[in-house]
Formats: sequence, C-alpha cells, structure tokens
Amino acid sequence: MNFEELCLDPRILKAVTEMGFEQASPIQAQAIPVAIDGRDLIGQAQTGTGKTAAFGIPLLQRADPHNKKLQAVVLCPTRELAIQCADEMRKFAKFLHGIKILPIYGGQDISKQIRSLKGGTQVIIGTPGRVIDHINRHTLKMQNVGMVVLDEADEMLNMGFREDIETILQNMPEEHQTLLFSATMPKPIMEIAGNYLNNPEIIKVVKKELTVPKIEQYYYEVNPRKKSEVLSRLIDMYDPELSLVFCNTKRKVDELVEDLKGRGYFAAGLHGDLKQSQRDRVMGGFRNGRTDILVATDVAARGIDIDDVEAVFNYDVPQDDEYYVHRIGRTGRAGRTGRAFTLVVGREIYKLKDIQRYCKTKIKRQPIPSVNDITEIKADKILEKASGIIENENLGKMVDILEEHLDERDYSSLEMAAALLMMHMGEGEITEDMKTEDFGDTGAEPGMVRLFINIGKKQKVRIGDILGAVAGESGMEGKLVGAIDMYDKYTFVEVPREYASDVIDAMKDAKIKGKSVNVEPANKKD
Ligand code: AMP
Repeated sequence: MNFEELCLDPRILKAVTEMGFEQASPIQAQAIPVAIDGRDLIGQAQTGTGKTAAFGIPLLQRADPHNKKLQAVVLCPTRELAIQCADEMRKFAKFLHGIKILPIYGGQDISKQIRSLKGGTQVIIGTPGRVIDHINRHTLKMQNVGMVVLDEADEMLNMGFREDIETILQNMPEEHQTLLFSATMPKPIMEIAGNYLNNPEIIKVVKKELTVPKIEQYYYEVNPRKKSEVLSRLIDMYDPELSLVFCNTKRKVDELVEDLKGRGYFAAGLHGDLKQSQRDRVMGGFRNGRTDILVATDVAARGIDIDDVEAVFNYDVPQDDEYYVHRIGRTGRAGRTGRAFTLVVGREIYKLKDIQRYCKTKIKRQPIPSVNDITEIKADKILEKASGIIENENLGKMVDILEEHLDERDYSSLEMAAALLMMHMGEGEITEDMKTEDFGDTGAEPGMVRLFINIGKKQKVRIGDILGAVAGESGMEGKLVGAIDMYDKYTFVEVPREYASDVIDAMKDAKIKGKSVNVEPANKKD
C-alpha cells in the first residue's frame, strides 16, 4: 500500500516521501487507519517492521499544534529507544510546525527536562521510571493527553516496569486512546490490554503460506558502517555476472549506487522516483551487460522482467517475510544455481529468525570473507583461466621468451608466475580486515556476545548507566545492546558479536559512575 492511500496529512506525507519510504509496511498499512480513526489497538510487531511510524504518524496527525499542552505520551523501555523514537518522530513532524517532541529518560538532568516541558511540549517519549518521577513532581500534566503508546511493551515488562506502566495508565484522563505494541503477547500483556484498552483492534500481520525457492541462502552479521565494504567483498568473492541488491528505501538505493560506483563497480539504481525513460535506460543497461549490479527497492523490482540473476543481496533485511521470498525468488530460476545473501545488523537477527521460521527455510550464517579469502578466490579464478590457456593454446613462443628472460636473471619460473599472478589480481584495494573475533559461547542469545563488567548495584550503578557507557563509548546504537543483567557486584550485558571487540576496547579507558571498569567476555557458566 502506498502512503498516498492512507489519508495522511499532506505535511506528514511530504516528510515520509522525503525520508525515501516507498510503500507502507504491512503493520503500517493496517495500524495507521485504525489509529487515525481514534480507536485503541494492539499491534504485534517487532523492531524493524516500521512500527514507530505505525504509531508515530497517527499520533502526530491527531495532535494539535496550536494547543501547547501535553497531548501524547509514548513509553519506551530504554533511553536509547526513547531518543531514537523521538528522532524518527521529529522526521515525520518536519513540516508540522509548532509540534514539540521531547524524549525524557533517567540519567538526564531533571531540571533541564522540566524547563523543556514548560516550553509547551505536546509529545513526550519517555522511559516509565522517569515519567513517574515527573508525575510525582507534578511537572507532567496529563489532563489533555489524548493518546498513550506503549512501545515494546513486552520488553518494558521484562525490565520490571509493569507497576510503573499501570500507574501511568491510571493517571490518564478518562477519554484517551491507547496503542500497545509488542513483539510477543504473553499473559501480562494481555492483562494490561484487558484492563486499560477499550475494545482494541488486534493487528497482527497475517502471513500467507510462502514457498521459498531452493537456493543457497546465507547471512552475514555486519557492523552498519561496514555494510558497503562487506557487500563489495561478497561481490568480489562470488563474482556474479548479474546481481540484484535490495534496499528498504529510495534514499538508500541512491546512496549505495554512488558508493558502489565510487568503488569501481558498474551499478545502477531503480526506484519509484525514476521516470519511465530513466527506468528503461537502467533496465537496458542491465540487460546488455553495461550494468552488473542493479540496486532496487521492493516496489521497483516488482515491475521488472529480469528473472534470472545469479545473486540477490539483501543490503537491508526486508521489513516483511513476504518481501524476502519475493526478493530471493529472482535468482536460481530454471534449475540454475542462485544464491541469496543477507546483511544483518545486531538485533535484526530476530527478524531473520522470523523469516526462517515462517518461510520454513534455512539461512546459514557465514563469516565475512577476509582479505585472504578474496585473494585466494581471485587467484583461483585467474589460475583456472590460465589452465584453460595451457590446454588449448600453443604457448611455444611464450615459453621461449620466458626461458630467455629467466636465463639472464636470478629468479625462478615460480617467482615469475607469482609476479604475473599478482599483476592480474588488480589493485589490492582491500586492506582493512574485518573478521569478527569469535568469542565462542558466552551464554548469550544468538548473534550476541555476553560481556562481564565488574561493577553492579552495590556501586549504585543503574541499567541506564551501563547502556549509556557501552553504547556511548563504542559508538554503536543503543538499540543494539541486548539483555543487561545486574547483580550486586557485577553486570552482564549482551552486545552484537560484531561489536564485541569494539566494546571491550572502548571500555578499557571508560569510566562508569567515575570508576574504571574491567570488561571481558563472560564464561558460559556465569
Ligand atoms: P522500526 O520498526 O520503527 O524500528 O523501523 C525500522 C526502520 O525502518 C527505521 O529506520 C525506519 O525509518 C524504517 N522504515 C519504517 N517504515 C518504512 C517504510 N515504509 N519503508 C522504508 N523504511 C521504513
């Protein structure tokens, strides 16, 4: 479904278009009309399905910019999620002048927050503890709140916020709308829904039975900043004649095409903003081999009649299982071999697991090819070609030249062959190695490494301090940080495997609550 069909305020539509969203994700298509209509809803959706927009857009659409009182409260489990959610909502509100959105979370100076709140904030995105704090201080007035959103409700309950959430909900005025989003629907969530929601619409993206073509599927856990580097390596390694690369937004398509061109690839982009003549030109180039890599959005790819590509790359994990099947179905047709590769960042691994479960398919994890792997593969290809020449060509003249040359010099024919091989390998432009260290089983969830930090409750450290330090020092997004278990004298925190070394390194010089800490991979037994 297009965003045009969702009856959005033209200013919000303009912002969404500018963000490069091409079509509404399934949860958005279903939740937005219900929420705009003012009804309560329960949305079962994970991170990465576009749920922030699913509640953020209706919330903004229903807010009144002329009324300077607090109108909407979004509750998130962590301060990182609160900040992220506020950032995303501000993008949707770009053209809605007069709407003020404020994240409020523990750890931040409360008097500063109080000052900001006084300046006429209509939307707050907060962590439950801090919101309660403000309610008790009477610095948040709920009389005019018309909408409450519980984001990642299951996560908030896991973190022990049930009581806080209920207190907040009890503080709401009689007339208000409640949207509850959760990846899972355990009993306590249903209880909260039963007690505080009014005849909610239950939205679960229903999925069709999907058949996945029998092709090899792999995934790679990557650092988001290294995505295009990893893609280049995979392309170098597998050297597909034609590749189709999928991105989730139009903007990403444009950026990636520029990046790939900069690296010397023949790439072109395809998305809904192109005119028919431009599309024709791109497709023509792909068909006649001028372009080897076509980068496209889901919508744009649907309209093209290229059926057989050697490799499909999911540069972004698709927002829906069905897209995955559509995407990879572009390869491996008519009994030919095809391969599909997916780049996964941090907790996106859960979406991939969903896809595997739902599509009953196996996507195998592979290490990111190292510089060595690529060198070997490139060399193999050249040597294979050379073998063909030895078998099929008359090399007499060449052998004579070499003999003469080697006679006069002091090196072997093997050295000469190695030098010629090196010349054929091209520039060694890949220098940096990204092989992620394997920390073995630390007892963490899949894709994560569990780290031990020698500081805990006794030192008056809070979960937010740990999260802030780990994310802040290593520069990774806070939402990528996994479970944090705190004990009296120590804490365990899970981080994505590809970040673990960075975090350990970064924490060497870091302080938490003024104390230097020691961070190391946990033992499984711990
Ligand atoms: P969320 O599930 O809200 O955390 O969203 C995950 C990511 O998908 C965010 O970076 C969003 O900006 C992006 N996103 C949300 N909706 C869409 C859409 N309809 N098309 C493309 N990207 C989207």
